Amino acid sequence: MAKGVVVIKNKKAVGVEFYHKGTLKSVSVNKEIILSAGALSSPQILMLSGIGPKEHLKSHGIPVVVDLPVGDNLQDHICFLSYYKTKELVFNSPNKTDSLWTLAQYLTTKSGLLATPGGIESIAFISTDPKRPEYPDLEIHGEDMLFNEDAIEGELGVDPKYAKYYSGINDINGFILSFNLLRPKSHGSVRLNSTDAMQHPIIDPRYLENKEDVESLLRGVRFSQKLTETKTFKSQGTEFFHKPFSPCLEKSKFDSDEYWRCYIRYFTLVIFHSTGTCKMGRTEDPTTVVDPQLRVKGIHGLRVADASIMPSIVSGNTNAPCIMIGEKAADMILGIKPPTPLSDM
Ligand SMILES: Cc1cc2nc3c(=O)[nH]c(=O)nc-3n(C[C@H](O)[C@H](O)[C@H](O)COP(=O)(O)OP(=O)(O)OC[C@H]3O[C@@H](n4cnc5c(N)ncnc54)[C@H](O)[C@@H]3O)c2cc1C
Repeated sequence: MAKGVVVIKNKKAVGVEFYHKGTLKSVSVNKEIILSAGALSSPQILMLSGIGPKEHLKSHGIPVVVDLPVGDNLQDHICFLSYYKTKELVFNSPNKTDSLWTLAQYLTTKSGLLATPGGIESIAFISTDPKRPEYPDLEIHGEDMLFNEDAIEGELGVDPKYAKYYSGINDINGFILSFNLLRPKSHGSVRLNSTDAMQHPIIDPRYLENKEDVESLLRGVRFSQKLTETKTFKSQGTEFFHKPFSPCLEKSKFDSDEYWRCYIRYFTLVIFHSTGTCKMGRTEDPTTVVDPQLRVKGIHGLRVADASIMPSIVSGNTNAPCIMIGEKAADMILGIKPPTPLSDM
């Protein structure tokens, strides 16, 4: 039997097993259990407890309590980075932020560079999908930086193997626009690696499996190239900056769509917004794990309240929606009714 699980008797969640300083302990519950371990761990805990895809649980020798598509529907935001050269750093630079003038400006008027958020200074949502022009499909994050190999690897998290293609680039003034795919069509899964709760599960994100995701990011590249033609970008002497990537040049002509499709497959990053693995929805929908009250289907006294319940990933950052899921779960448990919609007032 797996350890470190939700204990279920007669289809009712009756307790939790957990490790404390290496010792397995257990607590029993009188009311209900709320599982909030996030979109990668909540499905692992449910599967270890016998709630999950029947054949997968059987393959690990776990007795099946309820056959549910736990761990399916993994969704995340991935992004493609566009680099731009400018005459000088257009947002912040160490010279400016560290200057006495900047400090005095902040201390006296609470304005100036030290009053800016730092990191991601600008955000935009754009719609590039001709089939759904009413919805944004890409979110842009704007970030200033001095380019060099270290920044590309360290700050941006590009795999060192690929970041080295930017070697020889030293401290170029510029900024980055990150094009985040808001509604990825490629969905992955979380599965058990073993019945040991201390082992990581198998995460198979299947990024870019659906070609439409590549096409969305390609439209982002073309959008990012066009931006330099605008009056504002021109006023900063902005140039689209790209060092041709030889593995893609071997297969395609530079700057062709095929070249960028290849480049996207090498340089796309994830932004850690895992969601969807305990999908919420109608009870009769075979793809759902929890009902609209976040109760695990077929089990009494067990809810899930975290990013895993999102049926589709939200079109924006996930932290605030997760807080909202927690707040809503608390209201439902306490029996607090939702506020009256404005339209009914
Ligand atoms: C590096 C990084 C940067 C991010 N940046 C942003 C950002 O800038 N803006 C934004 O909106 N979102 C950001 N996110 C995403 C955001 O943090 C998540 O979407 C959100 O925290 C998910 O909330 P959650 O409650 O589902 O899970 P979590 O916040 O992951 O909470 C799950 C908790 O369960 C605990 N846990 C897991 N397994 C077990 C276990 N077996 N036993 C006991 N405890 C367990 C974990 O330690 C954790 O405390 C970022 C995420 C990462 C990883």
